[in-house]
Amino acid sequence: MTTAPTTGTGVGGATGSVRTRGLVHIYRSEGHEVAALSGVDLDVPAGGMVGLLGPSGAGKSTLLNLLAGVFRPSAGKVFVGDLELSTAADRALDRMRAEHVSLMLQGAQRNLLPYLTPHDNVRFAQGAARRAGKDLPDPDEVLAEVGLADHAHDALGSLTPGHLQLAALAVAMAPRPAVLLADEPTSQLDHPARDRVLAALTDANRDLGTTVVLVTHDPDVAAFLPRTITIRDGRVGGEGRSGEEYAVVTPDGFLPLPLHVREHLQPGTLVRFHPVEEGPGEYLLLAGDEAAGATREPAGGRVGGWVGGRPSHSAGRPADGAVEHPSDHPPDYSARHRAGGADRG
Ligand code: ADP
Ligand code: MG
Repeated sequence: MTTAPTTGTGVGGATGSVRTRGLVHIYRSEGHEVAALSGVDLDVPAGGMVGLLGPSGAGKSTLLNLLAGVFRPSAGKVFVGDLELSTAADRALDRMRAEHVSLMLQGAQRNLLPYLTPHDNVRFAQGAARRAGKDLPDPDEVLAEVGLADHAHDALGSLTPGHLQLAALAVAMAPRPAVLLADEPTSQLDHPARDRVLAALTDANRDLGTTVVLVTHDPDVAAFLPRTITIRDGRVGGEGRSGEEYAVVTPDGFLPLPLHVREHLQPGTLVRFHPVEEGPGEYLLLAGDEAAGATREPAGGRVGGWVGGRPSHSAGRPADGAVEHPSDHPPDYSARHRAGGADRG
């Protein structure tokens, strides 16, 4: 790698950090409205690498499009570096997309001009940034970085799906963006090809300091990432750090329940947080009869490891499925919650 790191270069001279506050997006079509995002607060530091997980229809692609400034949110704010996208002038957004933020759409070929080779696709993708005076590496260098040097001048039609995805990645990396947004970049690949694409994304993040946000359905990819954010029903439903799953308190103080807890806590359930003497910031979450039992020493059901399991298994039971409770007491639902236990690294 001969190119100097461009860590943090970016938008308006600021860094490639990504931040949203109260992000709402409503699609309006033929008289009815779909709320795709209903209050997303996201923080990805410059140089971070984060996976977006969540079921189909959760709002992941909508979120990526808003981060890329493809369209503007219905409400709330999006910041890339210092630039506030929801109010930025069209010209500022055009410039941001040409130079600082790349969006890789799902399906490699949607990112490529079919009649150009990988080399010429990369050169084409550099055009706007180059005209704006940005110093960029030669296309051959960009292709070598993603491991596609040997196919630089092949016709696209002769490339494997894995190579096409690498070509799409090279196109996205061509203008040396501060932020790379990738929508399911490995979803149609076999495992060796998937691993090559993931390695190339990781290299871009590590060697060039590019902030990477990627959507994935693949548990293996999710497990590989240091940080994942699960989007559920247009909101942040949880966060995974190094294989542990956490619920995340929103800026306005709401706490989404993990799915496996929600099974047990019906709407309307009363919940109390009972401070634990052992340590600061530790709470027992008391639900149902226990919460109503106010001052009584918590005696009942305790669910061990509710933050356990890999991020990709967040929709399931805790890894150990442990529910310890004294046999004479019905296990209302309580969970031991270590606030601030999430490693903010
Ligand atoms: P994901 O990428 O997580 O599968 P999307 O962001 O594509 O989710 O979609 C979120 C919601 O918004 C879904 O209910 C989807 O049907 C709806 N949606 C997405 N795009 C449009 C659109 N262009 N018009 C109307 N509804 C849309
Ligand atoms: Mg999608």
